[in-house]
Amino acid sequence: MKRTNYCGDITAQLLGTKQTLCGWVNSYRNHGGVLFINVRDRSGVCQLVVEPNSPFFEVAYGLRNEYVIEVTGTVKRRIEGAVNPNMKTGEIEILVEDLKVLNTCIALPFEVENSRNVAEEIRLKYRYLDLRNPKMYANLLLRHRIAQAARRYLDAQGFLEVETPVLTRSTPEGARDYLVPSRVHHGEFYALPQSPQMFKQTLMASGIDRYFQLARCFRDEDLRADRQPEHTQIDMEMSFVTIDDIHEIVEGLMKEIFKTAGKDLQTPFIKLPFDEAMDKYGSDKPDLRYSLQLVNVADIFANTGFKVFQDVLAAKGAIYALKAEKGAAYSRGRLDKLTELAKKNGAKGLVWLKIKGAACEGPAAKFFTAQELQELQQALNAADGDLMLVGSDVNLRTCQTFMGALRKELVKELPQNTDWAFAWITSFPLLEYIPEEDRWDAAHNPFTAAVEEDLPNLEKDPGSVRSYQFDLVLNGNELASGSVRNCRRDVQERILALMKHSKEDAAIRFGMLLNALEAGAPPHGGIGLGLDRITALLAGEESIREVIAFPKTAQAVCPLTESPNRVDQKQLDELGIQLAKE
Ligand code: ASP
Repeated sequence: MKRTNYCGDITAQLLGTKQTLCGWVNSYRNHGGVLFINVRDRSGVCQLVVEPNSPFFEVAYGLRNEYVIEVTGTVKRRIEGAVNPNMKTGEIEILVEDLKVLNTCIALPFEVENSRNVAEEIRLKYRYLDLRNPKMYANLLLRHRIAQAARRYLDAQGFLEVETPVLTRSTPEGARDYLVPSRVHHGEFYALPQSPQMFKQTLMASGIDRYFQLARCFRDEDLRADRQPEHTQIDMEMSFVTIDDIHEIVEGLMKEIFKTAGKDLQTPFIKLPFDEAMDKYGSDKPDLRYSLQLVNVADIFANTGFKVFQDVLAAKGAIYALKAEKGAAYSRGRLDKLTELAKKNGAKGLVWLKIKGAACEGPAAKFFTAQELQELQQALNAADGDLMLVGSDVNLRTCQTFMGALRKELVKELPQNTDWAFAWITSFPLLEYIPEEDRWDAAHNPFTAAVEEDLPNLEKDPGSVRSYQFDLVLNGNELASGSVRNCRRDVQERILALMKHSKEDAAIRFGMLLNALEAGAPPHGGIGLGLDRITALLAGEESIREVIAFPKTAQAVCPLTESPNRVDQKQLDELGIQLAKE
């Protein structure tokens, strides 16, 4: 190695020693003829000093930001007053005795130090500069540590790391497939896997018993702020397990992962049935750092004179309420925004009531009796100065969902809580009805098993059947989804039939898995954990793009490689592809 040490590791312990460092010029300063140069590598920065009479003064004087240098010198203590206690290397500097420029650098579009404030397009186009920013290096390092911790832990638990194909056929996870045309078989396509789901189940049929992979999953989903066309899962599958076994293994894994970031997790995580999560928090990924809950207040309004609530209750609908502490002070604009938010999430309207002394104020207040208002106040444990929000809908889930969106907004006003609130959400319904297509679809993925005692109702009342699916949520984020799977072909085919896959169609799409199931597949289950999201949360980042080395923009474009891009006519001809006229 050219270097004797990393820049960030030169501390007072090395006083008097000779060191060679290699790195980038982070900054330079001319202080009355003495040059101070900060040299940076991935470990940090170290200050160099070049005296005016140094034979290297000329070279040093010519240095610019991001020049690559090799420097040798003696470590000495900084003079009193120049010590920087905020820097690991802040007590020392290196008196330059040799200096080489290994590479120069053109004028750059932004400074490395400021890269995180630059427009995302530009950051990603010059990602090699952006990644020189110490925070970005810290993020990649954390991701590496998490991946290594996962590998170590899963290996110790008897999991085998097995790679599964990227060129394959469609595996449904609810998104569109990315397709790759075959050159050898014109008109035929591979699909990039939305997850290794069918392969990992097939590995269980193969007797592998415990599988894991840091698997890339490709989903051509509609663009949303924080979606990536490809994301990474810590993907696992195991045989002869119950839901509780899977939870226990994953809790151990999360403990190890959090340890890498210096955080001690309490396990087991709480388990919250889906119905209860919706009832209390209006979400299947509630942020449980905050205790604020929705309250079902339908009973209070059983005999109400308020027409909207009357109609909703007559149609067996739902009425929920929420308290906004000190919300009586909200401006009209803020209340309009809350109403808008509820509407965006499916509400037709929202009743708000400000508690002012003994009275309730709000456009709808006059429709309620004193007793209704008092009972409502009691149910919410609301007091003078608080605001009560009441929502109703003929559809229970719609009502819960928009009240849940309001809850999410209201907790932003509470004192911020930095705990890690994990929960398993369990007992999801197996199927969801799609009215436009008059069919049922998997609430999770089509391979999830139904709760045994609900199986007789599968065809009679598909909506009532509960599944062995579960999600892992953390602070309002879904970190993982998993389930115990169908291990018998006949049951799997009954479920696929409800999704309107005929036996023939199912055999074509899912043939590999169905064949494996009927050939002695063991009971099995597994989970896929979002590595990007876990890393982002531990790194304190809002966006998963901050923890992916080369992400795509929200428009699914990579400014660095300029992909996707057009290809030569020759390549298209080889593939037998003709582009449609635009
Ligand atoms: N394949 C599932 C997913 O991508 C995870 C699992 O059920 O194991 O969400």
